[in-house]
Amino acid sequence: MQLYEIRQCEAVACHFRFPVAVGDPAGVRCPHCGEPTALAATPQITETPFPQFAPRFTQLELLLDNIRSLYNVGAIMRTADGAGVKHLHLGGITAPPTHPKLAKTALGAEGALPWTQHRNSVHAAQELKAAGYEIWVLEEGETPALSDAEVAINLFTVTLPDNANQPILLVIGNEKVGVDPAIQQMADCTFALPMSGVKNSLNVAVAFGIAIYQIQFG
Ligand SMILES: [Zn+2]
Repeated sequence: MQLYEIRQCEAVACHFRFPVAVGDPAGVRCPHCGEPTALAATPQITETPFPQFAPRFTQLELLLDNIRSLYNVGAIMRTADGAGVKHLHLGGITAPPTHPKLAKTALGAEGALPWTQHRNSVHAAQELKAAGYEIWVLEEGETPALSDAEVAINLFTVTLPDNANQPILLVIGNEKVGVDPAIQQMADCTFALPMSGVKNSLNVAVAFGIAIYQIQFG
């Protein structure tokens, strides 16, 4: 296991403080001003597992509908693993976990979840709906407004179904265009996150993280 230490610049006017691997020559001099540094603290990194909780839904799968950013895909995969998602479906341009640039962001989580790649997200959603899955869409970002008849439900005030074994497909959409309109039309429900502020959108990976923890543990 790699050991780390926290070093601090000895220049009084600087005191830049940063973590570095023990023995890494990059830690000897201050990355900010170049003056020598000294050991300031030794972090205790334990390998004790986090407390384990059973997720609310045991059959929840995730469809990433054309997520463009590799960073977002990696972050979503790692979060999905932590939140008890059972399976990943990667639609269209969404990069597969085997993409070399993903391994670093996902920090190993890319190997933890089974996944399937689909050329067409709509077809994937149709097949799963026909197999008995409920289709849940997470509306986020600057996605087109829903019609009056289809009002998105605030995920933080809704009472979620209590059938823990209901198969669910949660769909997260592309950063620019959101979830494909054909999937929105077949959705059993559309969820939105409560928002405060001027810019009413979140990064897709952040929005997913908030939503999945509310769905599974809230
Ligand atoms: Zn310095």
